[in-house]
Amino acid sequence: METPKTKKILISEIELNRARQPRVGMNKDYVSELHASLESGETLPAIKVFSERGVAPFFLSDGWHRLEANLAIGFREVEAEIIIGTAFDAFKNSLGENDSHGLRRTTEDKKRAVSLAFEDEELKGLTDRAIAEICRVGHPFVAKLRPSTGTDSSSAGGTDSTSNGDEPKRKGKDGKSYSGKTNGSKSKKGKSNSKSKAKPEAEILDGNGIVVPAELVGSWNDTQATVMDLQMHAHVLLDKWPEKLFGVQSQRIRESLNTLLRSLDVVLCPECKGAKCKECNKRGIISKRPLLGTGK
Ligand SMILES: [Zn+2]
Repeated sequence: METPKTKKILISEIELNRARQPRVGMNKDYVSELHASLESGETLPAIKVFSERGVAPFFLSDGWHRLEANLAIGFREVEAEIIIGTAFDAFKNSLGENDSHGLRRTTEDKKRAVSLAFEDEELKGLTDRAIAEICRVGHPFVAKLRPSTGTDSSSAGGTDSTSNGDEPKRKGKDGKSYSGKTNGSKSKKGKSNSKSKAKPEAEILDGNGIVVPAELVGSWNDTQATVMDLQMHAHVLLDKWPEKLFGVQSQRIRESLNTLLRSLDVVLCPECKGAKCKECNKRGIISKRPLLGTGK
C-alpha cells in the first residue's frame, strides 16, 4: 500500500457522528497520554476523514482520541488523511478501525461496532461473514450478536451459509475455529490485560487518576462526549468570528469561549470519588474549574 497523503485541516470543519462512534467511550487516560506527546512536540498519526470532494465537511472515521487530544491542547488544525467518500463510507470504515493501531479495541468496543452495523439499514442485510469483515472481528462473534428476528434474509454477500438462525457455527473458511477475540498476533507492549476474565477490560481514569466507578461509567462517557462536542462547537465559533470582521466583539467571544473551554475539564468529585455526595450535588462528576468565579 502506498503511504497515504495527509494534510492539515481545520478541526471546526470536521463532522462527528457521535451516535455512530464505534467506541463505547473515550479513554481519558489515553487522551492524556496523547496530549502529553503533543505537548512534548511529537506528532500523532494523522486522523482519517472522508469527504465527497476532498474539501469540508470532513467526516471523521478514525482518530477520536487524537482529535480530542488536539482539541484539549487548543490546536485549531489537525493532520488528516482525506479519503474521497461519503459520511456513510466514513461510518462503515470506522467500524473496523483501531484493530491494529492506536488504542486497542476492547471486546465491548467490538460489540458496539457490530451492533452499529446491525442497526444500519444498508449493512444489516449482509451476511455475518461480510459484517465480520467490515468490523474486523471473527464471524462467530457477529453471529452471536445478530438480533434474532425471524425475518432475516441473508441474501446479500454470497456463498456463506454458516450463519442462519441462532446457533453460532464456529467454522471459518480455513476450518479453524475462531473465538472472536483479538485476531491480531501482534501484542502491544506493557498491558497485562491479555488474559481475560476478572476485571473489566478498560479501567477508566479521571483527570486526577481516580478510577471511574463502574456505575458512573455511562454518565462519565456521556459527559466526555458532551465536552468534546462543546469543544468542537467552540472551535466552530472561533473560526466563524474572525477578528478583523468583529473587532472587539470577537475578542470578547474568544475570551468567553476560552473560559468555557477551561471549565470543560471534568473529574470525579474529589470529596466522594464519584460516590455522589452533597458537595457535588449527588452527581459524582464535576468540572475541575467552575465556570464562574475562577478567582483563585
Ligand atoms: Zn461528591
